[in-house]
Parts: sequence; structure tokens; C-alpha cells
Amino acid sequence: MTKKCIAVLTSGGDAPGMNAAARAVVRTALERGIRVFAVYEGYQGLIEGDTYIREMNWDSVGGILGLGGTIIGTARSDGFRTREGRRIAARNLVEREVDSLVVVGGDGSLTGANLFRQEWPSLLTDLVELGEITAEAAAQRANLFIVGLVGSIDNDMHGTSMTIGADTALHRITEAIDAIASTAASHQRTFVVKVMGRNCGYLALMAALATGAEWVLIPENPPEWDNWEEKMVADLRRGRQAGRRDSIVVIAEGARDKHGNPIGSSYIQKFLEEELREEVRVTVLGHVQRGGAPSAFDRNLGTMMGYEAVQTVLAAQPEDESQMIALRGNRITTAPLMKCVEQTRAIAAAIDAHDYERAMTLRGDSFRETFRTLRTLLRSLPHAPTPGQKHLRLAVMNCGAPAPGMNTAVRAAVRLGLDRGHTILGIANGFKGLIDGEVQEMDWMSVNGWAATGGSNLGTSREVPSGRDFYAIARTLEKYGIQGILMVGGLSGYQGAYQLFRERENYPAFNIPIICLPASINNNLPGSDLSVGADTALNVIVEAVDKIKQAAVAQRRCYLVEVMGRKCGYLALMSGLATGAERVYLHEEGICLSDLVNDVEQLRLGFEHGKRLGLMIRNEEAHQVYSTNVLCAIFEAESSDLFEVRQSILGHIQQGGNPSPFDRIQATRFAARCIDFLIEQAQLAEPAGSFMGLEAGGLNLHSLEELPKLVDKENQRPKRQWWMDVRTIAKLMSQPMPSWQIEQGK
Ligand code: ADP
Repeated sequence: MTKKCIAVLTSGGDAPGMNAAARAVVRTALERGIRVFAVYEGYQGLIEGDTYIREMNWDSVGGILGLGGTIIGTARSDGFRTREGRRIAARNLVEREVDSLVVVGGDGSLTGANLFRQEWPSLLTDLVELGEITAEAAAQRANLFIVGLVGSIDNDMHGTSMTIGADTALHRITEAIDAIASTAASHQRTFVVKVMGRNCGYLALMAALATGAEWVLIPENPPEWDNWEEKMVADLRRGRQAGRRDSIVVIAEGARDKHGNPIGSSYIQKFLEEELREEVRVTVLGHVQRGGAPSAFDRNLGTMMGYEAVQTVLAAQPEDESQMIALRGNRITTAPLMKCVEQTRAIAAAIDAHDYERAMTLRGDSFRETFRTLRTLLRSLPHAPTPGQKHLRLAVMNCGAPAPGMNTAVRAAVRLGLDRGHTILGIANGFKGLIDGEVQEMDWMSVNGWAATGGSNLGTSREVPSGRDFYAIARTLEKYGIQGILMVGGLSGYQGAYQLFRERENYPAFNIPIICLPASINNNLPGSDLSVGADTALNVIVEAVDKIKQAAVAQRRCYLVEVMGRKCGYLALMSGLATGAERVYLHEEGICLSDLVNDVEQLRLGFEHGKRLGLMIRNEEAHQVYSTNVLCAIFEAESSDLFEVRQSILGHIQQGGNPSPFDRIQATRFAARCIDFLIEQAQLAEPAGSFMGLEAGGLNLHSLEELPKLVDKENQRPKRQWWMDVRTIAKLMSQPMPSWQIEQGK
């Protein structure tokens, strides 16, 4: 069999994270000993050939991880839509002996790629007949294998829960809407914000959820009323009466009414101005949404997908159909490319045919559920209780260190609980407040504006109850008639909940449902792949390291950055992956002297060969003896004056900041599930005590009984940590050259 040879291109609209994907494809291919080309300017470059198709080496993709857009360029190519264009493209690939093409683009680009593959044999026949390639060359490259990576800010592809670029676009949109909200509130003004997304309402829906906007219009689910404009005005008025100072209407670019008539932002503006008799401002976010540095999530998604693309190429058999790399349940997998594209088209067709039920069904359960949750959260007042329904008194609290997204979760829990006709109580300062009886009733507007703020407005503490505390807690529970508890927080909160659960036999007041919602920047909670707050912390670290890197290239410097996480290396590893750090020190792996000798050697070698910047990331508790100070001192002493060493301990900025869109969305979804749980369990004679989270795809519940089994007690982290597998990719990407080359050099 002839050796594989890959070409990678980016096509269609650019998306942040495309660079990470291209870098990962190039480096993984080189590591596997495969030649790899980058095609500049998308399909147009494939037709142009020549210098548009360049062979890549390890360094040609250095330093691009943090850049927005795509450095290899993208274009829309009419030429590639013609058979002649594709024939020339085929010739250019055969000439370079390429047999696998990795395309990073939207559904248009992936459709084009698939067509190219289908036509490939006949294109080669034509080329042989025209005498442009030899029959032998054609026989050697008889098949073209395609792998698609979806690069699209719209998150509009069926078959993957996220596309590369969508998370960054949401960052840009939420930043903008947060900013607009404060000026809108100052002037008591209404703003209409238009966001991108073509046929897909994902960005609009999630942005509205994340920012607490008041009305949202998406293509998949137009308002069911003919007089929706009046309904919107009535809602905004009610909001003002209830005490809201800002009103924000988010509209997706593909928004329409139920008859399919497009709804424009200026139409809404005019209508609102006439009805509300106040100034209404329109902000069309436009291309700002595409731009800027990619978020931590998009860098890592691009990297992991690019890695998987090459693995897929290597495993491919000639007859295999084209594959798309997908994210499902937080895991990278593959899916048949054309099936995903067809389903994506089916959504657009359903919208065109006004079959909105089908459009929502095709978007999937979580989209539909999010829409339902959003409609409740946006209300200006809760629904009246259903006559005869059971009225519950449910409490919510925060425990452990503050994590961005805690307030978002509390807001959602309060509103969703009130809307179901129950009383919601806020407990201040975690278990400490429960012991001291610091409880207060929450109403609808008490959580207004909480969606977007970091920290913990309820107050939080690390207190884990024991001994006499139980008596005090039982008294508080009885005094306030608390019939269920939602604990939003970290491991100390889980431990506290576990204690109450265990003491049920001794304290009848504890026989109530209790549920833990994972919220900790450390991402060290059992039963949960990702805890609320970790994404924000990761972005804070990545932004800080980007700045440090910029400052460091001016001198020849090596930076050692210390990040949080207690004994869990998630933040260190994932920020290392997102910033291209060459070394990550984790508690899980420990540090030994021979590692350090090797690290020093690598550093010296690198700087001797012209490297200008070294970057290492150390988890705060990676090693007791080899602290950040000690490591720096060792590197400095051994630097042979080739480089300087500086340390940067990022500290508490990692716990702060407004929650990222992902954390806000996750917090809201989790809270919705927790409120359902409490309401359901509170009706039972023996209610459950549980902790919840997303695990490989689904929202799972575990009984608190399982807690000791799942937690590594000594190290205070889950026994199984899914992300440890990512170490292989992180190591590969950050090597100075392919490992076989390093071996040869030794
Ligand atoms: P996106 O990939 O972001 O959806 P487009 O739909 O504009 O963007 O597609 C990008 C490029 O992919 C087009 O300019 C064209 O070169 C190619 N392409 C799209 N659809 C097809 C098709 N049906 N056949 C051949 N090429 C296509």
C-alpha cells in the first residue's frame, strides 16, 4: 500500500479555532510520519495549485493557536462548483500524491468535499484521457478519503453538539449584550440585538439564556401568535412594572414569523418605539461575532478534532464513506459526513416549509428543552400555581470556593421553582448559614441580573457540618419548613450533603431530597465531566497566558505559570493544551528529579536553536517539594545564561470574573434538572439524596451513597478523570518536533 499523504484546507466562513484544527492536523500527521500539505485560500487554492498548496513542517504551524480566523486563508470558490474546477483540483492533488483531504468548513464546504470524493474516480479517468496524469499515478491514488471538521460559528451542523467557532462567537455576543445591558439599565432603555446564525437559532437562544434578555426570536420556533408584536410589548411592559430597568430583545438573523415572513430588527424597533413611546436602539453585532481570539473551548475542540481527523485517515479503508469529526457528550467521535449534512439541510427545509415542530425535533432534545427553560426564565412574573397542587418550600445554597456561574444557577433555580408554584428560600453562606439559621425567601426579582455576574451573591463557605451542627441544622430546616435542598458548589458541599444524608436516621428533618449541582473551577467533582465555573477559569488562564507570552517574546524568557485546581490537574492540562505550553506539571503525574533534568535539557536545546519563549504550566499542588519557586530556581540555575526564568502565580483572578457563556448555559440547564428532581422527590416517602452532572453524553444522577466510592479521599478528586486521556494529545502538540525526530537526534 502506498503511504498516506494528507492535505488540509479551511473553507467557507472563517471561524475561531480553525487554526488550532489546522495545527493539530499538521502536527499529528508529521508525528505519524505522514507528509502533509496546507491548501491556502480554500478550494480556490486547490484549483490554483502552485504555491497555494504548500508542504508543512512542524514550525509552519507554530504560534497560531491563539489567533482568530484562519492563517491558511479561506475563500468562496465558484470554480470548485464546476466539474472543470474540480478536475484541476484533482490533478493538483494527484501531482502531490495526496490521497486524504481534511476540510474544515461549514455544510457548504463539506458538501463540496463529498461531491469531490464521489467524482474522484471519474475525474482521474478524465485526467488520464487528457494526458494530464499518467495511468499509474491515477491507479496509485484511486481513492480520495475525506474527513470533515465543522468550522462554523453558527453551531448549525446536525450530528455534533458543537462546531468549531460557536463558543467564541457566544463569548463575543454575551460580552456585547452584557455591555449593552448596563447602558440599557442606566437609561431604562430597550435594545434590539441582532445576532448571526443563518438558519440556526443556537447563538440567539443561548445568548438570550446566558444574558437574561427578555425576548428572543429564532428561526426554528417563531412566535405562535399572529399578534406576536403586541405580546412582546406586553411582556416588556410587565417587566418594567416588575422593576426591570433594561429590556433586551435578541433576534437571530434568520428570524421569521410563523408564516415565514422575515422579521427585521428595524421593524421591531419601530413597533416598540410607537408602543412604548421611548427610544429603542438597534445593535447589529455583525462580524464582531466571528472575530477575536478563540476561546479556550474552541482551541481545544479544534485541536482534539484535528488530532482525531488524522487518526481517522489512518484507520480508513478505501471503501469507507467520508467521515465527519463530531463532539457528542463531551467526547470526540466520528459520524458519516453526508448523513449529517443531509439532516442539516432537512432542518433548513423544515423551516422553509413552516414545519417548525420538525425543525425543533431535528435540532434535538437539549435545544428544545433549553428553549422551554428560557421561556420561563424570561418571564416578568411566575405563572400562578396550579389549583390544588402541592406547595413545597425548597432551599438553595452555595458551598465551597466561589465559582463563576453559581449565581446563574441560583437565579434559574429560584425562577423555575417559583414558576412551578413553590416557595424558594436562599440560605446564606452554605452549611454555615444553615447552622446559623440565615435563611430568606427569594422572589422573582431578587435574582434579576444574576445570570451574568461572577462570585456568589448568596455567600458561600467551606464548612462541612459535624457533631452538634446537625442539631442546629435540623432546627433551621424545621423552623423554615424546608422540604428540599439544592446545593450549588464544590466538594465540601458534596461532603456536607453526604453527612446530612447519612444522619437521616438520627434526624427526621433530614429526610428530604437533597441534590448537589457541580460548581467548582477545579473541575474535581465526581459524576460530572465538567463543573460550572471551570470553563470561565480556563478562559481567564488562557487570556492571562496569552498576555504573558506576548511580553515574554521580547526577551528570551521561560515562564512558569502556576494555576489553581488543588490536586486536580484539569485546569493545568487544559490551559496547557489551549496555550501550547511545552510542559504541564500535574499532581496526578507527580514530578521527579529526572523529569526536571530532562526539562532543563529541552529548554536549553530549544533556546540554543533560536527559541525565544518557553512556557510551562504547573498545577498549584503538583508537588510538595518542587514548588513553583523551586522549579524556577532550578531552571534559572541551569539556564547557562541562554534564557531568563520568571514565574507567574495567577491566584484568585481564576475564581473571579463573569461566568463564560458555557458556564451560564450549563448552570441553567443543571438548575432546571435539579428543580425537577426536588419537586419529584419531595413527594416521596423516602426521597433520594443525589449529585448530578454530565457524563459522556447524558445528565446523570448518582446517589450520595456512592460518593465515597467515586472520590479519591486522599487527593480529594474523582477516582476516574476522563480528561487524563487528553494528555497524549497535549504532549504531542507541544513537542518541539516529531518524537521520531527527537529520537534520531539523540
Ligand atoms: P460554508 O462551508 O461555510 O457553508 P459555503 O456554502 O459558501 O460556506 O461553501 C464554501 C465553498 O464550498 C463554496 O464557495 C464552494 O467552493 C464549495 N461548495 C459549496 N457547496 C458546493 C457544492 N454543492 N458543490 C461544490 N462545491 C461546493
